[in-house]
Amino acid sequence: MKKRLGLVYGGKSAEHEVSLSTARAVTQALDLNKYEVLPIYITLQGEWLKGQPLEGPVTEIDILRLKKEGVSQPDHIEEFLKGDMPDVILPLLHGTNGEDGTVQGLFEVLNIPYAGNGVLASSAGMDKVVMKQLFAQAGLAQVEYIHFIRNAWQEDAAALLDQAEQKLSYPMFVKPANLGSSVGISKADDRNELQLAIELALRFDRKIIIEQGIQAREIEMAVLGNDHPEVSVAGEIRPVAEFYDYEAKYQDQSTELSIPAEISDPTARHMKDMAFRAFKVLDCSGLVRADFFVTQDDEVLINEVNTLPGFTPTSMFPLLWQKSGLAYPDLIDRLIELAFERHAEKQ
Ligand code: ADP
Ligand code: MG
Ligand code: MG
Repeated sequence: MKKRLGLVYGGKSAEHEVSLSTARAVTQALDLNKYEVLPIYITLQGEWLKGQPLEGPVTEIDILRLKKEGVSQPDHIEEFLKGDMPDVILPLLHGTNGEDGTVQGLFEVLNIPYAGNGVLASSAGMDKVVMKQLFAQAGLAQVEYIHFIRNAWQEDAAALLDQAEQKLSYPMFVKPANLGSSVGISKADDRNELQLAIELALRFDRKIIIEQGIQAREIEMAVLGNDHPEVSVAGEIRPVAEFYDYEAKYQDQSTELSIPAEISDPTARHMKDMAFRAFKVLDCSGLVRADFFVTQDDEVLINEVNTLPGFTPTSMFPLLWQKSGLAYPDLIDRLIELAFERHAEKQ
């Protein structure tokens, strides 16, 4: 029997477009003998639109058509909840309202199996401050940082700039606590840039983190599984831009990925262990991409985990698994299996 697979994509998020590319790639790779695909598109305004079940190989046009017209009549979420449910959901959303546990909470309430991380891991992984606090708890090395909320900035910006300069040195990285894909992140080389960077980041979030900027290689590992996760080989990203910003991630073809990354065996083992511990401390399930900085003298610092990493066939996560022996369509199957497994364990 074919599984009815609800593919949820789009989303009320700054990473909407990224999600569309992922949905396009996943639909093209799915074996339609195994799955009946039910496209569920969330507009930028947050409306849920249900498409007709997909019956042939899906083209880019189909996805775009669905995106534009939402197919026939718009179904708002209330309608979605009343309609017949898929057997399992594959959420292909990034950023707020998708990767952050909110949509996962909805699937929990509906009691539908869904792929990937649960509510807790998703929301903890989306908040860079909470994530770092948990990493510290697990004894994982990371860069120094400070954090504050918008109100504190409005009350005394100078004091916060002082605090940053006392604890950290330039360059610093300023980030909204709750985004991904480098949206709202900037590097500051002096106090003036720091102030501008904070003001920019505050447009995206009420919580800001300022990190010590470091010179390091960026190396990533993919984790797959539930209670007994496996860790992939390592991959390195070499952005041509000054840092791995939004453009470098999604528009610029010149960012180089090298898989497996050239690292020594002890460093690889150390990173694997850190990736595993990061997965555990956030209570992850399904998948995670763990991102590290590796300094010149081979010190490994964890940067972040992404609970719904980029998932097109040319994204790091699928490529890491491909190099580790798991092809893209098989990886999707595996994630869906893991969704059922996790659901069964909860009952
Ligand atoms: P996102 O969740 O948006 O991917 P990251 O924390 O990974 O945010 O930051 C995006 C990119 O910015 C990183 O891939 C890296 O290139 C650069 N970067 C972030 N933090 C630092 C830092 N502390 N030092 C040096 N580079 C950094
Ligand atoms: Mg991220
Ligand atoms: Mg990142």
